[in-house]
Amino acid sequence: MSFYSTPIEEIPAIREALVKGFASGKTKNVLFRKTQLIQLAYLLQDNRERFIETLAIDLKRPVLESNFLEINGTIAEAYEAFSRIEEWTKPEKPHFDLNWFFMRPEVRKEPKGVVLIIGPFNFPLWCLLGPLAGALAAGNTVLLKPSELSSATADLVAELIPKYLDPDVVRVVRGGVPQATKLLEYPWGHLCYTGNGRVAKIIGAAAAQTLTPVTFELGGKSPVIIDKSADLELAARRVMWGKCANAGQICVSPDYVLVHRDVEEAFIKEVRKVHTKSFGPHPEKSDSLSRIISPHHASRIKALVDNTKGNVILGGEVNVEERYVAPTVVRDLDGDDSLLSEEIFGPVLPIVKVNDVDDAINFITSRDHPLALYIFTQDKKVKEKILSSTNSGAAVVNDVSIHALAAGMPFGGVGASGSGGYTTGKWGFNTFTHFRTTLDVPSWLDKIALGSRFPPYTDVKLQDLMTLAKYKLPPRPAPGSIVAPQRRWKLWAALAVAGAIAAFLKQRSS
Ligand code: NAD
Repeated sequence: MSFYSTPIEEIPAIREALVKGFASGKTKNVLFRKTQLIQLAYLLQDNRERFIETLAIDLKRPVLESNFLEINGTIAEAYEAFSRIEEWTKPEKPHFDLNWFFMRPEVRKEPKGVVLIIGPFNFPLWCLLGPLAGALAAGNTVLLKPSELSSATADLVAELIPKYLDPDVVRVVRGGVPQATKLLEYPWGHLCYTGNGRVAKIIGAAAAQTLTPVTFELGGKSPVIIDKSADLELAARRVMWGKCANAGQICVSPDYVLVHRDVEEAFIKEVRKVHTKSFGPHPEKSDSLSRIISPHHASRIKALVDNTKGNVILGGEVNVEERYVAPTVVRDLDGDDSLLSEEIFGPVLPIVKVNDVDDAINFITSRDHPLALYIFTQDKKVKEKILSSTNSGAAVVNDVSIHALAAGMPFGGVGASGSGGYTTGKWGFNTFTHFRTTLDVPSWLDKIALGSRFPPYTDVKLQDLMTLAKYKLPPRPAPGSIVAPQRRWKLWAALAVAGAIAAFLKQRSS
């Protein structure tokens, strides 16, 4: 596939422009940032139809999915940052502490500098311009490196950015590994990488050389647990939607299902119904199904299906040249099956039978922490048990995938599924912000305890300074025991004093 690549020799000058843009100080002005953010929202809104076209070229993405899953959410990121930036940028005060109060402690929100955002192919707007909103809100200048695989969308982004945004503040470098490798030679205020874990290790190693802080938005295998109490019709409808939207190329697609053995047949019956209703007898003719990004990825998925020891009960057809993978369901597979070996990132659903909830929990906890965990149950105890025995980037009960767009909620992975996050809203702003402690210390403090820190040291000075150490440790826990809950004696004492005063006043007035 041919795509435009920024000549490597142009990269230093592009970066330098952003360094100068940051040094000019213009991004410190909140109104300037707001202007960029609203421009970003308009970039997407004015060109919605063109983006729908490029997403159709790159992924044959249906119009509904491009609007619902990508463009609306990205505009929402820019708009939310535009609307809330005054609140987010306000300095924060710590809790009251007499030792520090007179030093006027404040946490200022500073931009990190020139930041680099490397995007993936599967959500070429949301994963590139979503973090851009957070980075702009925080006052950074930004270099964007879209994925070379979704090249039509990357071309359009590169065309529109200079038309809508200040070129001192946002630039685009197009291309693949050579361009990314060149960019990694530089130190960045922050680096956001969205993509697979293998490349994340390369990026992390390069970032370590320049001490660049990194956010990793990665993927992995997000499991679904179907408990025997689940509403199976609902579970089948939602799981199949999550599996087939964008042809399964969503970081939070349900990757595989662990179904309680008592309801396996009934669940599969519901899955068959949804499959027929959604895509009919000829899914290859459906307008509701995206294509895989490249023949390479289509043949990767084909190999996973070809090598499964499970039974393919629905779909299974792959046309590598057409980048088509049929919505496919596979059952009767073991834990070491090819389909359970790596993130599928395609519309193929493996169904694994488990004996009970504990079996499902063990299956999940013996693998990497997933980016998302989905639980279908109507039993609150089962829900609590699963939530408290597992860990994942996020967990959703009785639905899949939609949490990625949930306003004001942190989105990101844990362990192998990522670290940090760049959406949504304030969480993205925080990622690109340096929280800078400031104190403004009055001279008169040296006349009291703080003056005792200066040499020559004496016992009296030490005594003075020890009065500042206010903590009083509770009794040491007995060997093998755990600490007792802390008593809220201060609260009770305050209530008792308030009660006594109220009683006293009442008595006086009567
Ligand atoms: P990709 O192939 O588009 O690569 C992502 C980026 O990495 C591209 O910009 C590419 O140019 C760059 N890259 C590739 N090789 C590189 C190298 N050797 N050195 C430096 N840069 C390099 O996309 P992908 O990695 O296949 O993306 C899919 C993965 O991303 C899936 O695992 C998916 O789950 C994950 N993902 C995660 C999120 C999230 O928010 N957590 C969102 C979308 C996708």
